[in-house]
Amino acid sequence: MQEQELQEQLQERFVDAAARGDASQLLSLLSRSPSLLNCTGHGGWTALMLAARNGHYQVAETLLSHSCDQLVLNRSSQTAYDIARFWGHTHIAHLLARMGGGCQLVPPPGALPQEGYFSREALVRCSERRSDAAWLQRQQRCPNSVFLLFSDLSPLLRTQDAGTTNESQLCRFSYQEVNELIQKPGSVLIFLGVAKRKRPSSSSSISTPQVEEGVVEPPAWFAINSDQDPSLLLKLCGDAKGFFPQSLNRDLLKLSEDEAGILAQARAVLAWHSRYSFCPTCGGSTSLEEGGYKRSCTNTQCRSQQGVHNTSYPRVDPVVIMLVIHPDGQQCLLGRKKIFPVGMFSCLAGFIEPGETMEAAVRREVEEESGVKVGSVHYVSCQPWPMPSNLMLGCLAAALSTHIQADESEIEEARWFPRQQVMDALFRARSPAFSLPPCQTIAYQLVKHWIGRKSNL
Ligand code: ZN
Ligand code: MG
Repeated sequence: MQEQELQEQLQERFVDAAARGDASQLLSLLSRSPSLLNCTGHGGWTALMLAARNGHYQVAETLLSHSCDQLVLNRSSQTAYDIARFWGHTHIAHLLARMGGGCQLVPPPGALPQEGYFSREALVRCSERRSDAAWLQRQQRCPNSVFLLFSDLSPLLRTQDAGTTNESQLCRFSYQEVNELIQKPGSVLIFLGVAKRKRPSSSSSISTPQVEEGVVEPPAWFAINSDQDPSLLLKLCGDAKGFFPQSLNRDLLKLSEDEAGILAQARAVLAWHSRYSFCPTCGGSTSLEEGGYKRSCTNTQCRSQQGVHNTSYPRVDPVVIMLVIHPDGQQCLLGRKKIFPVGMFSCLAGFIEPGETMEAAVRREVEEESGVKVGSVHYVSCQPWPMPSNLMLGCLAAALSTHIQADESEIEEARWFPRQQVMDALFRARSPAFSLPPCQTIAYQLVKHWIGRKSNL
């Protein structure tokens, strides 16, 4: 324990010396403990980053002469080189570029946005249980089970108790509280899954109740969409301040990562039920099966009764969303729609058409919307977007041409933005003239990924 404390103290002194530009103290600490070289302090900043931030050329040189790792990324996905450029210390930026830190062909594994908003699997979906009606019935009646409530696909939320954060929570109900509602003819009930077993030392709110004398089964989660008057549904909350969000695109981004993942699943499936209540093949009535993951036509003559048909299962609509990089590698193409908040620009995006590859969809959409021709396309990561059931496939795309001719029916304006201006929008205060979508969106993550990775496609 003491050993660890001592090491932590040394690390603190080491990064502090770098920040102050004290090269001699830096060297003496390094001779005592060579492993300090790449240690990180607050925000994942290395000594080299702090030297780059504060313009301490000699310290940067000293660290480089000891072969420090200059491709480390801090929590804002910046390298020391990015930081030196950002703060205008060009002599340090040049030094880093000469030593190879300004060019990064392969993104380090940590730079990829792995588990974005709406993407976390907080529940085990237990698809094998969906056809077990008796098991589902038992889970439904179990006092531990959790029910989420939607009115016209809007989830019932409440603001966080603490009051200090901007976060919202999904209102959770027990079977007792929603039992009557489930019986109403306009209610749709779906099974979401079972809570993952509690991770040790996790502060996650999606946890298994712990009982002293034994292990309790993790609770099953369900979601209900109701056509009842919303004010009646709000009464179910009792004294708590429940509300149905007014702006889904804004309010649904205020959940915890765990709840956002659950909401993405619940809303997309409920939206499918609300839009596909009749058989798409014959127009006949359908019945809900498999815990809400299937709708079967009740007409025995219907073609959908023979073989497997995708009309019987919840749909997912693939969308490409891409950050197009200028041939000079230092600018990216962003556009804005009329409905965006003033000054906000985002990545171009569009639905994949039948018989089209993801890459072809990127090229077609970019050319249609901006007139820019695209060559190579690289997949980065994806995000479920439950408005109502899109899967956003995030790509970087290399432009072959630069002239912009925006398609005014879709895009109000499209422009090339220099790297520096994009970095300002990502990491500095919001500007009314140019902002990016919020960090929960894949558009923001793609831009951040490009900044962290460099523009070498
Ligand atoms: Zn049918
Ligand atoms: Mg389009």
